[in-house]
Amino acid sequence: LSKETMKEYGNHVVNAIIEHYHTQSNKLPVAMGSREQMDSLFLEEAPEQGTEPLDVLNFVLEKVMTNSTDLSHPKSYSFVPGPSNYISVMADALATGFNIFSGGWVASPAAAELEIITIQWLLKIFGFPQKKGGGIFTSGGSMANLTALTTARRIKCGEDFSKAVIYLSDQAHSSNIKAIRVLGFKKEQIRIIPTDLEFKFAINKLKNCIAKDKLEGLLPFCLIATSGTTNTGTIDPLSELATICKKEDIWFHIDGAYGAAAILAPKGKQLLKGIEKADSLTVDPHKWFFQPYEMGCLLIRNHKHLSHTFTEKPEYLRDIEGNTSEINFYDHGIQLTRRFRALKFYMSLKTYGLKEFRNAITYNIDLAEEVETLLRSSKHWQVVFPATLAIINFRYNPIAKKHSKKELDAINQYISEKVVSSRKALLVTTVLHGKTVLRMCLINPRTTLNDVKETLALCEAFAKDRD
Ligand code: PLP
Repeated sequence: LSKETMKEYGNHVVNAIIEHYHTQSNKLPVAMGSREQMDSLFLEEAPEQGTEPLDVLNFVLEKVMTNSTDLSHPKSYSFVPGPSNYISVMADALATGFNIFSGGWVASPAAAELEIITIQWLLKIFGFPQKKGGGIFTSGGSMANLTALTTARRIKCGEDFSKAVIYLSDQAHSSNIKAIRVLGFKKEQIRIIPTDLEFKFAINKLKNCIAKDKLEGLLPFCLIATSGTTNTGTIDPLSELATICKKEDIWFHIDGAYGAAAILAPKGKQLLKGIEKADSLTVDPHKWFFQPYEMGCLLIRNHKHLSHTFTEKPEYLRDIEGNTSEINFYDHGIQLTRRFRALKFYMSLKTYGLKEFRNAITYNIDLAEEVETLLRSSKHWQVVFPATLAIINFRYNPIAKKHSKKELDAINQYISEKVVSSRKALLVTTVLHGKTVLRMCLINPRTTLNDVKETLALCEAFAKDRD
């Protein structure tokens, strides 16, 4: 491509992104399309002949972007939204544009250094040891959990893990079970501990389980706590769990993929006490640190544990090893070739300052509490679980009518289905203590109380149709 064509093309791309940011809230967040519909738009043989660049770009803007659900939209409340920020988007463009290899020191000293520095920032935020501690950026929380559990197994069990047992609660995120299975643990080696009424690890049940396993000659080696849980934002009793792990010589992993970022807000900091005691902590900057996908992070109390677990020394990497004071991130995790993830985190933090991040997260926590007050003042809504780390669970349950549990489950399922198929908001259900409830995750700083009021009005209109 000529320089002029590249410029024109680039300008179109950047303008489309800027336009998207500025018109996003007027668009519908939810995309729906069957396999047949998508096939009818895109299915073709790999083209032998090229097409004009702008024609391809316009086709993509028209057909691909409009057929993708927007999880950064202010009315996307479901799963864990991805409220990305423009500076990081541009940083990702730079990292990709220069195609910087972020695996080893020799390939890019600056990329390695920025990863070290931004990891240091995170270690400090979470109260981890600065000198001894370390970490690595990953594709997301799932990969961070897998990296943590691989390390825990290596450090605590060595080569033989046939007697090893791992503990997690029934509210732990599915990525942990996935990681456990990937690592080859058998069903008999996994203990899923029930939670109490607040969805926290039931400590006594956990203690009994560990004692029983030890009596049977098994090796309790790892415990996964969550801060906060995907369903309700619940934070496990971190300090108590840390004490148990220390006493029993168990690796203490905390999955803070969605909730750990709340430490930047005063209320979150209070709630997350004990997080600094983990051996490893999953943080997911592409959630509540407002980074575009894909960016997860694993922090670790002793960085040597990562290199001990992941270092391989093939002859073809000898020349890029560098000297021992330098960190090669390919020795700290699973990926060899890695994109330059640290750049977006670095540039957005430098541009906005931690203060803006604190303000945004504080706003989100307060917004969820305001929504709770709003719901409690209504005759139609019942708060099923209070606002916790910007998540609120509620259901339609009008005081004037006495519905059975079955009817309420069906009405709330119906509300969610109608809202999603209207495409006006992404609001789906979860199940808490057997009840179908609506779950709002309010981690987007662009979501306003008015957005929520409009969404609730939409829900009420659908509910009345059905009720
Ligand atoms: N852990 C928790 C608590 C989560 O909420 C999630 C995602 O929602 C994950 C792990 C998985 O993270 P990712 O989707 O970035 O792989």
